[in-house]
Amino acid sequence: MSAPLLTSLAGSGGASGGDRPDALTVGPRACSREELLGAAGAVAARIAGAPVVAVRATPTAETVAAVVGALLAGVPVVPVPPDSGPAERDHILRDSKAALLLTGEPSEDEHTAPVETVPVDLAERAAWSGAEPAPESTAFILYTSGTTGAPKGALISRRAVAADLDALAGAWAWTPEDTLVHGLPLFHVHGLVLGVLGALRVGSRLVHTGRPTPAAYAAAGGSLYFGVPTVWHRVVQDPAAARALSAARLLVSGSAPLPAPVFRDLEQLTGHRPVERYGMTETLITISTRADGERRPGYVGTPLSGIRTRIAAEEGAEIGELQLTGPTLFDGYLNRPEATAGSYTEDGWFRTGDIAAVEPDGFHRIVGRASTDLIKSGGYRVGAGEVENALLDHPAVREAAVVGAPHEDLGQQIVAYVVADGVSEAELIDFVAGQLSVHKRPRKVRFLDALPRNAMGKPQKKLLPPA
Ligand code: ATP
Ligand code: MG
Repeated sequence: MSAPLLTSLAGSGGASGGDRPDALTVGPRACSREELLGAAGAVAARIAGAPVVAVRATPTAETVAAVVGALLAGVPVVPVPPDSGPAERDHILRDSKAALLLTGEPSEDEHTAPVETVPVDLAERAAWSGAEPAPESTAFILYTSGTTGAPKGALISRRAVAADLDALAGAWAWTPEDTLVHGLPLFHVHGLVLGVLGALRVGSRLVHTGRPTPAAYAAAGGSLYFGVPTVWHRVVQDPAAARALSAARLLVSGSAPLPAPVFRDLEQLTGHRPVERYGMTETLITISTRADGERRPGYVGTPLSGIRTRIAAEEGAEIGELQLTGPTLFDGYLNRPEATAGSYTEDGWFRTGDIAAVEPDGFHRIVGRASTDLIKSGGYRVGAGEVENALLDHPAVREAAVVGAPHEDLGQQIVAYVVADGVSEAELIDFVAGQLSVHKRPRKVRFLDALPRNAMGKPQKKLLPPA
């Protein structure tokens, strides 16, 4: 049985065991654990008894206080992306039936959902003495990124969060002596659950840089850094900033595939092979390489403690759907019993919808999403990621997304979308011919100014122009 979710926040915690005035630093604001706990206590008193509460998840200390306050009071939290359009915001507010929206900054956001806005002020403090909520109760309603459809609200229990954070702290040797630095959005599992609650549970210092820029990462002087692949891509394009990260202990990448060239550049510039981890809103983080273990480009490592995985492959195939069980799994989608039922196999394993392969030594390789990244062309199965990595090896290619477009003869033909300067379609096809067998080579290359991506930097393949 793991300890209550916020143990180390309520206890002494903190670098070297004590509190410090900058234990939580978000952009220019810094506060101690005691101040954060006091502000969270005031929030808890204000919202206690509410069935659910939404938080306008700006990258601010007030957002952290709002989330912690809701966790103290045992009220499920729904983080709302601050820059989302009114349609997404309304979808989340209405679907979750939140009646209160906590916000640290006045906003002009428009929405038609019937919510009362509650301002959060770090200067308002109160002691909270409510009982610890039950471990099985809902901590978060986290909306998925909406890469494959409308965002779905995943119900995440306190027990699942605690189990995940303890497994990760073990895998990454994450301790109160660490300073975690990241600048990821606070409405997603990565930035919020892993990147804020992780630090609060472990008792390490947290520096949120507001935005995840290379300069801000370099200036923050942390020991542990979290980023999505687009962040690491920017870091390696800024060698001075990258070199400043040599002093760190661990660089972690996740939420989307880390291209092998970025992995290698990071190693070259910082001296660190990044740790990769795989997860999703519904399962939290379930697979990762380890601080004391091997780190291999293109691989996300082995299942965390308590997680079991299997590959549902067709007869004779090595790759197939990644399925898993374990204590970090969600409790279903809010208001979507059919989607919930459809996400489990008959024997109760969670279907990730991702295609993966497992090496004999247990290392997992994520091929991509079953819906967009597994291309069936001329009787072959081709993982989009392998073709993307081959393209990214060309020095002129900055970004690449590969899809299967409908084709009369082949079923699907491989089409590449690239962001590149000074290279032609024929040159690129010729270049990858040196690395890929014939059936894996793109038939067409289209040039774009930028790939469509969401706020987490995930490529949105459904938004690519037609081939
Ligand atoms: P939706 O479920 O609404 O379509 P989404 O799947 O993008 O959106 P998230 O839960 O944020 O929403 O993302 C989880 C997905 O991100 C995984 O299923 C996987 O496809 C991808 N992913 C996460 N980590 C990695 C990784 N290290 N390597 C490759 N893919 C990853
Ligand atoms: Mg998903």
